[in-house]
Amino acid sequence: MSADAFSLAKERFFRYTEKMGLDRRFPGQSMPEHLTEPDRSVEVRISLKRDDGSVQVCRGYRVQFNDDRGPYKGGIRFHPVVDLAEVKALAFWMYMKTAVVDIPFGGAKGGVAVDYPALSLAEKERLTKRYATVLVDELGSERDIPAPDVNTSAREMAWIMDVWRLIHGRYQRGIVTGKPVAMGGSLGRETATGRGVVFAIEEAAKQIRLDLRGATAAIQGFGNVGSSTARFLAEAGVRVTAVSDVAGAVRDPRGLDIAALRRHAAETGGVAGFPGGEPLDREDLFAEPVDILVPAALEHAITENNAGRIRARLIAEGANGPTTSEAAHILQQRGVTVIPDILCNAGGVTVSYFEWVQNRQEFYWTAEKVDAELRQVMARASREVFAEAARHDCCLREAAYRIAIERVATAAAARGVQ
Ligand code: NAD
Repeated sequence: MSADAFSLAKERFFRYTEKMGLDRRFPGQSMPEHLTEPDRSVEVRISLKRDDGSVQVCRGYRVQFNDDRGPYKGGIRFHPVVDLAEVKALAFWMYMKTAVVDIPFGGAKGGVAVDYPALSLAEKERLTKRYATVLVDELGSERDIPAPDVNTSAREMAWIMDVWRLIHGRYQRGIVTGKPVAMGGSLGRETATGRGVVFAIEEAAKQIRLDLRGATAAIQGFGNVGSSTARFLAEAGVRVTAVSDVAGAVRDPRGLDIAALRRHAAETGGVAGFPGGEPLDREDLFAEPVDILVPAALEHAITENNAGRIRARLIAEGANGPTTSEAAHILQQRGVTVIPDILCNAGGVTVSYFEWVQNRQEFYWTAEKVDAELRQVMARASREVFAEAARHDCCLREAAYRIAIERVATAAAARGVQ
């Protein structure tokens, strides 16, 4: 992701606040600036002792963007291209997301610039625990609560929780979400983002009169979000005909067997070589003749270079920031409906909130209750975004931002400035 990712996010934001007349509504409060300045950005050195005895020095980050509506909340990403601008952009989207679905959190994000999959298991544990140790004072269940993101999972959350417990000498389950169920994680959290993407698709499909039974979909990315989205789309009767990941892509116009593809990816590390489909060029995934396209990998996947080739009617942004502004403009002109990231992938943080609630109460929900509550949150938020878009004759992204900005600005104004 380019170094100015955060500036691009801000530019888009200022266009919306200008149209909303935010300065007039909250006079003398510099509200657009208040909402686009992170509360705190921490950059740290993470020294990793490699298995061969050498030391690798990495940069680590935690950006606590805004807590006007509740404690900071956001994932941790371990990926070579992580930098401060990317983490700021992701933290910014995070607090917009918690506001769109109206859960009582702010937004944060963290990361380390490292080729994490290339590390041994012992190196992964040392890196994660080092990261948690140097940032331990920033974290807390009423302060800043991490969760999984790219290349992190329940395993890393358990390691972070362990560090916090050793340093503070007490258990605090709500310190992280997305942790193993055995340590107080929520049922349904691991698949929550994909589940939420499909709930959002179901609501959008009603609005644009797309019958999901027999509809087709292509998915970029087959990690946590992409593979669970594929599974739930297939369960909803959608034929998933093409899937890609960082190393390859496969297609089958009759519909891929998603359970078999998940097994193949788990065994071999990726979708390439799946015997139940034919190989596809990764970039050609975007031009597949499908009804629904789900970018579920990294930022800036859909650009002015491929937006014109997209044949889907509906794009569901499983990833954060997958569509550039230029591409969004092209898609809007072509009449493609885009469910924006801050709504579409909010299922993960929503079930993180449920996990945090269960940890506070030490009373645990069934998987059915988690899914039912998530469906309600995603359906309500989707309907609100569609209604806002109709009210202002704008795209769903602008509508989602309008709702989020209004909620956060109202809370910020109520708190006052000292
Ligand atoms: P992950 O690490 O589990 O999976 C990422 C996937 O993307 C992998 O399959 C990888 O091979 C693939 N990928 C990377 N580069 C690619 C490329 N150029 N082309 C095709 N595939 C590529 O990560 P994840 O947790 O699934 O996150 C994916 C996206 O969803 C990110 O934008 C993340 O911020 C967002 N997100 C994740 C969650 C969550 O709960 N995990 C919640 C909300 C949003």
